Amino acid sequence: MKYKWFYPGVSVLMFATLYIAMALEFSPGSFQTLVAVVTGLLSYSIMLTLVLISIRPKSIEKKVGMTELYEIHGWMAMVIPVAILLHMIIFWSGLENVITLNLSPASLWGYMGVIMLIIVMLTGIFVLSDTFIKGSKALMKRKGGYNRNFQLWLHRLAIVSVIAIYLHMANIGFLSDNQVFMTLLTVYTGLTLGAYIVKKIHNLMLPKYQIVRTEKITPAIHEIELEATKGKAMEIEAGQFAFFRFVDSEVGREPHPFSFSASPRTKDGNLTVMIQEDGDFTDTIGQVKIGDKVTIEGPYGNFYPEAVQQSDKPMVF
Ligand SMILES: Cc1cc2nc3c(=O)[nH]c(=O)nc-3n(C[C@H](O)[C@H](O)[C@H](O)COP(=O)(O)OP(=O)(O)OC[C@H]3O[C@@H](n4cnc5c(N)ncnc54)[C@H](O)[C@@H]3O)c2cc1C
Repeated sequence: MKYKWFYPGVSVLMFATLYIAMALEFSPGSFQTLVAVVTGLLSYSIMLTLVLISIRPKSIEKKVGMTELYEIHGWMAMVIPVAILLHMIIFWSGLENVITLNLSPASLWGYMGVIMLIIVMLTGIFVLSDTFIKGSKALMKRKGGYNRNFQLWLHRLAIVSVIAIYLHMANIGFLSDNQVFMTLLTVYTGLTLGAYIVKKIHNLMLPKYQIVRTEKITPAIHEIELEATKGKAMEIEAGQFAFFRFVDSEVGREPHPFSFSASPRTKDGNLTVMIQEDGDFTDTIGQVKIGDKVTIEGPYGNFYPEAVQQSDKPMVF
């Protein structure tokens, strides 16, 4: 339970330290200005934290669970539009100036960051996550019609938005003149973007597996067995899942989550998944062939006997 507060805690810590650093040299003066700086700093701290969540570190996921991690991501993200709206109302540049782009560099970067953020939020709410639309059959149906891979790329504009908002702050006189604040801001931003880049490079270098068996075990379910091309396969527990990317098959390259379906302790150590034809990607899974290469990111998931057992009573799932 307490791990659920890990990421909100990271945001609060970043926000509090940035605020204290800012307050060393700047006093808001009025309540309005106080609200504007609090909402601005809070939004940015949450934006950085959301990037950190998107890295899905195994150590945190193990404690919280992937579904909960996505939900925390969704709920924290919802603070941003409210905070940014307040921030923009207070520091509004005037419609005429916005239309004619008669804006300071700080405002220009700020508006650019916000425009990208709106795209990021729309893709998150309506396409990539179920958290806010699962109650609406119409929205859930519409969600299936979008090109998820394209929307995922749009969602990655979050990184560009972070850079734009960083430049927004770096162009505001009372912030850029404050060395402590700028150092802290640069360290938080650099560490977050650095962690994101390291994760992307790590994903490109994931150990490869090759398909050694494919079998259509029902009219719509394919069983696929994978063998590590070098060394041993990853250690898994029954009930865990991973993100599979078919890197040289005739199917899409986007990683998809599938659960391991065979015992983790097979004699040859191979990994097996059962994939049901259920949409754009899985409908094409019959096209993968023996010898095709696959990278596997994982294992993830905390629903396995050792993790969920509360007593020595038998369990039925
Ligand atoms: C933890 C977990 C374990 C899973 N285990 C299995 C399994 O063992 N066998 C199995 O057949 N299916 C499993 N699934 C479901 C499987 O991942 C989806 O059916 C598949 O990704 C759908 O992709 P699609 O393009 O075929 O379908 P679409 O019709 O395009 O998408 C259907 C829905 O699947 C989800 N989805 C699509 N692409 C992705 C993606 N890249 N990453 C995450 N979600 C996506 C979205 O919610 C989407 O609305 C699992 C899902 C999760 C979250």
